Amino acid sequence: MHDPETQERSPTEATQETSKLRRVARVVRGAPFHWVGDGFRVSNYFPGDRELLSRVSPFFLLDYGPPRTVPASKQTRGVGPHPHRGFETVTLAFAGSVAHHDSAGNSGVIGPGDVQWMTAGSGILHKEYMEQKFSESGGEMHMLQLWVNLPAKDKMTAPKYQAITREQLGQSDAAGVKVRVVAGEYRGVRGPAFTHTPINLYTVELQAGASFEARLSAAHNTGLLVTGGSLSINGTQSAEHLDFVLLENEAGLVRVVADTACSFVLMSGEPINEPIAHYGPFVMNTREELEQTIADFNRGKFGDLDE
Ligand code: MN
Repeated sequence: MHDPETQERSPTEATQETSKLRRVARVVRGAPFHWVGDGFRVSNYFPGDRELLSRVSPFFLLDYGPPRTVPASKQTRGVGPHPHRGFETVTLAFAGSVAHHDSAGNSGVIGPGDVQWMTAGSGILHKEYMEQKFSESGGEMHMLQLWVNLPAKDKMTAPKYQAITREQLGQSDAAGVKVRVVAGEYRGVRGPAFTHTPINLYTVELQAGASFEARLSAAHNTGLLVTGGSLSINGTQSAEHLDFVLLENEAGLVRVVADTACSFVLMSGEPINEPIAHYGPFVMNTREELEQTIADFNRGKFGDLDE
């Protein structure tokens, strides 16, 4: 079928199409703050908010710890050994220092601007805590953890650990606009993280009055978490520190204007349209796989790790 009425568009209409701004679907706050172990005070955005969870695949969990002053202590503070299977944990440190050790023998420390991309895959035990020297001197802590789901075909992939320093991130600097690309691509700048499904993950800092624009796939679930200051999105919606902004899945530009100096994390990815079976630190596809996972964990198949 060919209908010339709809096939042909005037140049004006075409221009309007390309400059169209992607609409805001929701602006939400996270749940009341809770402690993860004794080191990380965070607010959860999803999966706690089930409605939001249904719109953010391939992302499965978002915990955000806004800036807070950590008192000096000789004690190790954080989360002791615990398992994961079927997904990836991505930790961003904006301030402070986080250390990681896992049963696959990987360990690392991330400081301000660094990223830790840990693929649990078939299963690991790990512990996450404040790095010892930082903990002993105390200071400002500001971090985020994102869980990225794996498609069924990759759930049992070998565990992997990507330690990404701030110097290794994709770097795009324009007047008042600093973009660091963790994964995917922004204006020809690629991020170093290997991902199992298409994902764009950026950290962005804007000076007051500056604006940021990105064109991301209409089919990809897209949102941003404001990690400082206040901003306007697509000319219609204001958001401030602690707000998560979910965008509609439609063609168009994402435009952010800084009302004050601000920062945000932009996440966008191709949805994984598969069933989810979730229990605590395990994210699988079926109940049977969850039961198998718990049995494997109880039999010690996730390896060993000292406290
Ligand atoms: Mn963990």
